[in-house]
Amino acid sequence: MESLLIWSIAAIMGIIIFIPYFLKFRKQQKNFIERRKEAETLGIIKPQAQFPFIDDSLCIGCGSCVAACPEGDVLGIVYGKARIINGLRCVGHARCEPACPVGAIKVGLGDISSREDIPILDMDYQTGVPGLFVVGELGGLSLIRNAIAQGKTAVEKIARDAHRSNDPAIKDVLIVGAGPAGLTAALTAQKHNLSYLLVDQQSPGGTILQYPRRKLVMTQPVEIPLYGKLQKSEYSKEALLEIWEKIIDDFDLQIATGHKIASVQKHEDFFLVKNERSEFRARSVVLAMGRRGTPRKLGVPGEDQKKVAYQLIDAKSYTNNHVLVVGGGDSAVEAAVGLARQKGNKVSISYRKSQFFRIKKKNEDRINLLIREGKVQPIFNSNLTEILPDSVRLKTNKAMLDIPNDFVFVFAGGIPPFKMLREMGITFGGDAKPLD
Ligand SMILES: Cc1cc2nc3c(=O)[nH]c(=O)nc-3n(C[C@H](O)[C@H](O)[C@H](O)COP(=O)(O)OP(=O)(O)OC[C@H]3O[C@@H](n4cnc5c(N)ncnc54)[C@H](O)[C@@H]3O)c2cc1C
Repeated sequence: MESLLIWSIAAIMGIIIFIPYFLKFRKQQKNFIERRKEAETLGIIKPQAQFPFIDDSLCIGCGSCVAACPEGDVLGIVYGKARIINGLRCVGHARCEPACPVGAIKVGLGDISSREDIPILDMDYQTGVPGLFVVGELGGLSLIRNAIAQGKTAVEKIARDAHRSNDPAIKDVLIVGAGPAGLTAALTAQKHNLSYLLVDQQSPGGTILQYPRRKLVMTQPVEIPLYGKLQKSEYSKEALLEIWEKIIDDFDLQIATGHKIASVQKHEDFFLVKNERSEFRARSVVLAMGRRGTPRKLGVPGEDQKKVAYQLIDAKSYTNNHVLVVGGGDSAVEAAVGLARQKGNKVSISYRKSQFFRIKKKNEDRINLLIREGKVQPIFNSNLTEILPDSVRLKTNKAMLDIPNDFVFVFAGGIPPFKMLREMGITFGGDAKPLD
């Protein structure tokens, strides 16, 4: 009798403890299923750049990958298996990989055979044109640590194979782009005593220069050749740029700025690399040009006015203004958030889709809070049709809107330099002919 009582109490206690977990699990499961359905409709479960690939035969649905991802709902557990919920949010931290206890997840580019935006490269980031390399974000993988690792690997390969140039007019390596990938390539060339030149259209720093002021940059410990380890997991934009500036000074890197490269032609013994006003010769070329290319313009009347910009470096310079931000990605949302926090600004954000769906969780939370507080006015399903001196005109699916305006920030992405790469003879995934 006594043991029955003990068992009954134990069973009741068990149920009391179990029920909240069960309810939480059910709620989470329902949420994941709904988000997965929504993601299917929006087409964001397909690979774009880096992406988590799940091996269903190994996945045990434990959710470690979901918990490990710093970007929010890239992954979820649906019917006992890890599933992509918002693949566009994956920026390649790859924390899910070591978190998975059974090795069922891998972050990468996956099968690129139908990808017209991913160049075909070998293990050393060499293209199909011998001596021509593509490193960093241009190759499809984002993140500073990937850019550093790839810049190093490519130039180490060149150092191993180099038939060094005896002609001082022909460098061993010409590197195009002075972001993290190109700077690392230059350091590696220096380390291996290769003659090299690093050229860029702008000052060194790459995309980091375009980050908003004081942005926190997430990295993982990574070894920079000659310099040593980047130890911390977070740096401010300014601190990171200072490190690169110190590296450039300390190692006296050979950099020429103000050169926007327009073509690379293979000659018998060297590459001829040209822009409008100069040309360079080198035995190998490393393209580290990133993917941002030229900012995409909207092509609307009034876009050539001074009040229209394609990046926002310092939100603090704008107060008491009517501002329109155009776009729905992280850059647009971060700009809208920064501007809405300044005194007296009235910020609207125009996006052609019905909601923000490809932004980081942190940005989503921030913008939603500002929308609820009335500090940002979202105008979904809208297109900017005209920019007037004191206002902007937007077409929504319901009406035409005229709103007062002092500044417009357009974040419609960049036009990546793929055409130029194809002209150099580089093949992309989608260009490859199927094997017989
Ligand atoms: C808003 C934002 C936030 C980010 N936050 C993070 C983060 O927190 N952590 C992280 O790891 N990554 C982050 N990233 C990604 C990271 O910045 C990139 O992956 C990294 O900078 C890529 O380095 P890269 O050297 O390949 O190219 P880039 O840094 O893009 O550098 C390319 C360089 O090539 C030059 N170039 C381009 N075309 C030519 C040409 N024709 N001729 C001459 N020069 C040319 C450009 O001027 C540029 O200097 C972020 C990106 C953005 C946009």
